[in-house]
Amino acid sequence: MSGRRRVFRFVEWTLRPDKDEDAPAVTYALRCLTLRDDDSECGARSRASTDPCVPQEWAFGHLRANPEHTSYAEVIERPWVMWRGGPA
Ligand SMILES: [Zn+2]
Repeated sequence: MSGRRRVFRFVEWTLRPDKDEDAPAVTYALRCLTLRDDDSECGARSRASTDPCVPQEWAFGHLRANPEHTSYAEVIERPWVMWRGGPA
């Protein structure tokens, strides 16, 4: 090992929503929160879609197949990016 001190270069980063044209699209999904008899979550989940209506249609289908499954959570995936603000 050398006796040199390590030099750390500190850079300020900012985390922000990625709204660039080539950013990944925001996607929507719905997950079934209904509890089974053993208190475990159903956990059934729609596929992710850029159209929020697609998971909603899935939820109606899930309800038709499982008439007691009436509780859902929306899962939104929004791209964020680290923005390098330059050396401090
Ligand atoms: Zn369910």
